[in-house]
Amino acid sequence: MTTFAPEATETAVETVPSFVEDAWWTPEDDVAAAGAEVRDASTGDLLAKVSTEGLDLAAAVHYGRTVGQTSLGELTFHQRALKLKELAKHLNDQRDYFYRLSAQTGATKVDSLVDIDGGIGVLFTFGSKGRRELPNSQVVIDGPAEQLSKDGSFFGEHIYTRIPGVAVQINAFNFPVWGMLEKLAPAFLAGVPTIVKPATPTGYLTAAVVKSIVESNILPAGSLQLISGSARTIIDHLDYRDMVSFTGSAGTANHLKSHDNVVFGGVRFTSETDSLNAAILGPDAVRGTPEFDAFIKSLVTEMTVKAGQKCTSIRRAIVPRSLMDDVVQATRERIEQRVILGDPRAEGVTMGALASLEQLAEVRKSVEMLVTAGGHIALGSMDEPQITNADGSVSVSREGAFFPPMLLTFDDAETPEVHNVEAFGPVSSVIGYDDVDEAIRLAAMGNGSLVATVATNDAETARKIVTGIAAHHGRVLVLNREDAKTSTGHGSPVPHLVHGGPGRAGGGEELGGIRSVYHHMQRTAIQGSPNMLTAVTQVWHQGADRNIGDHPFRKNLATLNLGDTVASELREVTLEDITAFANTTGDTFYAHTNEEAAAANPFFPGIVAHGYLLLSWAAGLFVEPAPGPVLANYGLENLRFITPLAAGDSFRVTLTAKQITPREDEEYGEVRWDAILHNQHDEIVATYDVLTLVEK
Ligand code: NAP
Repeated sequence: MTTFAPEATETAVETVPSFVEDAWWTPEDDVAAAGAEVRDASTGDLLAKVSTEGLDLAAAVHYGRTVGQTSLGELTFHQRALKLKELAKHLNDQRDYFYRLSAQTGATKVDSLVDIDGGIGVLFTFGSKGRRELPNSQVVIDGPAEQLSKDGSFFGEHIYTRIPGVAVQINAFNFPVWGMLEKLAPAFLAGVPTIVKPATPTGYLTAAVVKSIVESNILPAGSLQLISGSARTIIDHLDYRDMVSFTGSAGTANHLKSHDNVVFGGVRFTSETDSLNAAILGPDAVRGTPEFDAFIKSLVTEMTVKAGQKCTSIRRAIVPRSLMDDVVQATRERIEQRVILGDPRAEGVTMGALASLEQLAEVRKSVEMLVTAGGHIALGSMDEPQITNADGSVSVSREGAFFPPMLLTFDDAETPEVHNVEAFGPVSSVIGYDDVDEAIRLAAMGNGSLVATVATNDAETARKIVTGIAAHHGRVLVLNREDAKTSTGHGSPVPHLVHGGPGRAGGGEELGGIRSVYHHMQRTAIQGSPNMLTAVTQVWHQGADRNIGDHPFRKNLATLNLGDTVASELREVTLEDITAFANTTGDTFYAHTNEEAAAANPFFPGIVAHGYLLLSWAAGLFVEPAPGPVLANYGLENLRFITPLAAGDSFRVTLTAKQITPREDEEYGEVRWDAILHNQHDEIVATYDVLTLVEK
């Protein structure tokens, strides 16, 4: 049986399958019947059963470490990146189907866009970043080489290679698609096989996406496995080769990271947990300013998107004490204007149900704790809410997991509960501050958060608050009239930037561009001679052998080798040359035109050649002018002028093939050349990398 039919009924309950060892697996029928129930969030209808009873977790881990590692190891970073892009396109075409399943989780179309399109967007981003920011190989160099012997025969540097095990990704229920794809993308790019374990209440949507991925045949064998249902013993099977990326509650994270295999066995463990995120309204952002409006808009968005079930939602609105009433009033107005609670399949509904009745009970319990601690319910109610049903009728919700948007206020801003009880639903609290220092102190009382917003148009307020709170947060959004329309928003982690946060937020980083790929790799210090470092990294190192033969610009990527070099003769630079260059370019800076002033400068012996004159002439010295495999020069990097070249001195250039990066999907690739200029005394005048495009 498969479990991907969105309209499964009580009489045809299916079992959400796992995908292990490249095959679909479900438990025996009688075992499955006793599995956990998964229900439609709005109607309470039984959708499926979930069970891992009898699933061989050890075999899944072994399969990832062997088959998955082998198949991913056959690909370079660029080849993996292209597969992510291909996968993103494939999933894009299936979105309507995923939206239908997503609605069963209580998600509106907007919620589904965040989860499904957001997840596919992460694949696109890593598909592109992987090719732009990583080499087309399997080793990444981290930082410059350090010379460790006087004669240049011994160097050290750091490299990243993938970890040799599996990435076990345990995810929360609120983002069944994004939660999987945001972790799969960096793990896959690094070359590490994924075992994804979604949360039980919404894991059927993850399973549907995995099914589509499997059917696409894009990913190599063993690179993705899925565990549908409980995986309480998974860490028993892991060791120092493996990593666990956990997203969920702080309580579960603390339990998992105290496992012996983490504490003593060296399993890498990173967690993204819950967090009482703050939004701070600056003292300048009074009612009527664009910043006030942007703040209210953001607060309402964060309360209502995914029915507030976002780890990044604003839980604490920290506002000037004198503006508390204005904030409550404006929030109420916006919610009354815009929020229609109901079944996401009904026309016009803008906020859906919580993911499950268990979740509803959790939220109610947390709100009761907040109220007991002194919170006043300023907006919303604990009564069963009126909702719009799928057929358009309006009734009091009885079976669904509905909870209305709720705003609490606290007289005492330091009430501990407002800073540590997370009501994981459409619930926020408003607290007041008297001065900016107090606002900073209150924000820090969250004990480490994923994200904060600072809404102000005052530069000094922004500087003071951001520098005051940054170390307590993984991300800070400064919201003002200039970015209010273009901002990606408080609650949206973007794949380019870090997603995570210190302290209570878990202390991990899920995203952060290529940084998140490195989380799946081991950094190792490598020591050796330049020739050996060149062989290991496939990047030519200063001091390694150079081959001077045919001009390297006559070679295509198939015949060019690392170390292929062109070395010029010396060329003299006269005062007339320098004067002519100054006059034609207009760069008549005194160091090139005024002998007395130049000599008075602490760095120059007298008139010196322009650095750009030397670069231009160097190109003239190394170029091979006839049409050939070199297609274009697209820039230089790491340029340093080291020894000035005085009028009458000479220089020569040596150009060496340093890195060769064929493009997977083009008939050409990049070649990086090491360029070094010496004067007639063999002193280094300048160093830089020349970047060219060369035919395959
Ligand atoms: P949860 O109860 O901690 O569960 C998270 C995941 O851990 C689920 O997949 C769950 O599986 C699994 N799990 C629980 N106990 C386990 C164990 N002993 N061994 C192995 N796996 C175990 O959290 P949730 O209720 O799903 O998610 C809500 C919480 O997540 C909120 O507090 C929210 O703030 C946080 N969250 C954080 C982020 C972030 O990026 N920081 C993102 C989203 C959500 P089962 O479902 O099968 O029990």
